[in-house]
Amino acid sequence: MVLISGPSGCGKSTIIQQLISDERVEFSVSATTRPIRDGEVSGKDYYFLTTKEFRAKVEEGAFIEYAEVYGNLYGTLRAPMEEAIAGGRVFLVEIDVQGALQLRALGEPGVYVFIAPPSFDELKRRLVGRGTESPEVLERRLKKAEDEYRERVKYDHVVINDDLERAVEEVRNLAGLQEGVS
Ligand code: ADP
Ligand code: 5GP
Repeated sequence: MVLISGPSGCGKSTIIQQLISDERVEFSVSATTRPIRDGEVSGKDYYFLTTKEFRAKVEEGAFIEYAEVYGNLYGTLRAPMEEAIAGGRVFLVEIDVQGALQLRALGEPGVYVFIAPPSFDELKRRLVGRGTESPEVLERRLKKAEDEYRERVKYDHVVINDDLERAVEEVRNLAGLQEGVS
């Protein structure tokens, strides 16, 4: 299992997009109660659930972890993780800092990777540039970024996403997916 965390807007999704074309990788599709964004596909980016549906899954024990992030619920599903790992694939999880540290505390084996922006100014530029958040949500995400950044020391590796290609290559190597090695 490879866990990817980092402040909102640092480029996690962009990096992950480049890794999931590899057939040895299975991306963990989380469940969330957040509203769907333009261009997102249910079942591919997330399973978009109502709060009631999400709570029912919690009761069933369907999640290895779940957390409230920016007022919405997000959870990692257990069944696809077990299937991918049994099949020898890399299970790639994008998860917030609380979720990653929860899994680490549970002793969940994996490579814990923190993606950092080159600077906070650049992080703000990227978030504004993405244009998917209201000014209020954007402000919350930027505030939280500073707290999350402090937690980077609890990860196995910190990858700075300045040059995208270099950052992707670094994560690929950490996941044991070097070119030509299978
Ligand atoms: P996250 O998933 O961490 O919230 P995204 O992957 O959505 O972040 O990236 C936020 C924005 O920054 C997007 O518009 C993306 O195109 C841009 N971006 C990502 N990586 C880089 C990079 N290395 N250089 C410049 N812009 C980037
Ligand atoms: P976004 O709404 O921008 O897609 O994601 C918001 C935050 O939720 C990000 O920090 C992302 O890593 C986190 N997240 C996504 N899926 C999960 C999950 O399954 N569990 C937890 N704990 N956090 C998640």
